Amino acid sequence: MSDLPNLMDGKKIADAMRAEIGDEVALRAKEGRQPGLAVILVGDDPASNIYVGTKEKACQAAGILSFVERMPADIDQQTLLNKVREINEDDRFHGLLVQSPLPKHLDEEEVVRAIDPRKDVDGFHPFNLGLLALNQPRFVACTPLGVMEMLERYNVDPSGKHAVVLGRSHIVGTPMALLLQRKAKGANATVTICHSRTQDIASYTRQADILVAAIGQANFVKEEMVKDGAVVIDVGINRVEDATKKKGYRIVGDVDFAAVQPKASLITPVPGGVGRMTIALLLKNTLLAEELIHNSK
Ligand code: NDP
Repeated sequence: MSDLPNLMDGKKIADAMRAEIGDEVALRAKEGRQPGLAVILVGDDPASNIYVGTKEKACQAAGILSFVERMPADIDQQTLLNKVREINEDDRFHGLLVQSPLPKHLDEEEVVRAIDPRKDVDGFHPFNLGLLALNQPRFVACTPLGVMEMLERYNVDPSGKHAVVLGRSHIVGTPMALLLQRKAKGANATVTICHSRTQDIASYTRQADILVAAIGQANFVKEEMVKDGAVVIDVGINRVEDATKKKGYRIVGDVDFAAVQPKASLITPVPGGVGRMTIALLLKNTLLAEELIHNSK
């Protein structure tokens, strides 16, 4: 697949970014500075465990101080909030995130609000989402930020284009739409957001010069829903049963890749596309957090 001429190779870009980040960390080390990222992981969800382990390794590889606070699944809200506040005050850590999803009995929104917005490297705090809405972005959610980085590195200028975003979550769809429509270089698209209540989604997707799918529905975007020459960004990560695989499943995106790829001018694969970018952008946000805190001293 990697030899397809219209493939946007997330692994290649993420590897390049991680090398650049490693160089930047080395430069700061000469001034006695070390960016640090703390992650709070509640419970033992296997997928969350894997994500957190990957984040930890990526930090270590880049020279970023990494710390994971593991808390039991039956922790109460107050104990978790106290831990967040303790890390807010810990100068070694410039970035702090609480791995989602949290067990059902916990109030995730309250936990996110407790994170110091200056350390909110996930960009989920209302303060940072508000700054983005005001076109003063500081910390922006890593996945949509990764999409913007891919567009830039593949010389896709959204200016004046019609971008259609499928999905309106606070983690992906909403910040994605806000980033694309910003009055700023590398943005300036006209944006349409579609969601589960949108009627006749195909009538919108067919108009898209840039189509971003982030709905969590396997192979939802079919060939006839895509305009010739569109740039197709697939954020979706979905498990589908596959008896030929050892695990019994494989990962596919929200786009029917085999059918849509010949029609697209550029397209991201799943896996190996947007997913690869998310952690690289988390490292970049951690560097930004360290820089902002350093400059405010
Ligand atoms: P959410 O479940 O929070 O949001 C899904 C959004 O899609 C909602 O806005 C929902 O609409 C909309 N939606 C769901 N079904 C349909 C449908 N049939 N037609 C139209 N709209 C629909 O998911 P996330 O935003 O967190 O994630 C989206 C996908 O991206 C998932 O597959 C997830 O695994 C993946 N992901 C990938 C990441 C990466 O690193 N590559 C990181 C984060 C997520 P409504 O608002 O009306 O409910």
